Amino acid sequence: MKWLQKIMLGRNGGDQLCMGLLLLGLITTIIGNILKLPIINYLSYIPIILCIYRMYSKDLTKRRMENYKFMILISPLYSWFSVKVSKIKSKKSYKYFKCPNCKQELRLPKGKGKINITCSKCSTKFMKKT
Ligand SMILES: [Zn+2]
Repeated sequence: MKWLQKIMLGRNGGDQLCMGLLLLGLITTIIGNILKLPIINYLSYIPIILCIYRMYSKDLTKRRMENYKFMILISPLYSWFSVKVSKIKSKKSYKYFKCPNCKQELRLPKGKGKINITCSKCSTKFMKKT
């Protein structure tokens, strides 16, 4: 493994943008195979080659700036995905409701029967079974 350390010394290596490019390459390959269009398969090499170029690049400032911009671009999608995952994880013990007035999402513990709910944002009261 010393030889790999020597090769990667001073180089960018893998980061989030590389993972995104690899994922894009994989998705375009799958789409190309489903649609049986070889041109899409050839196009899928572009993000993979870009990823390899970025991994072996020695211009760390430029690569980190590109990764930073990518992270800013992807952060709304990432936070949306994190909320969905946490909802799925807590689905056994909590139930989610939307306020009929302001559409604020409210989380309540399951198994409490029919209760009177007060919205934390607009103080609207409504009945729901948890
Ligand atoms: Zn409300």
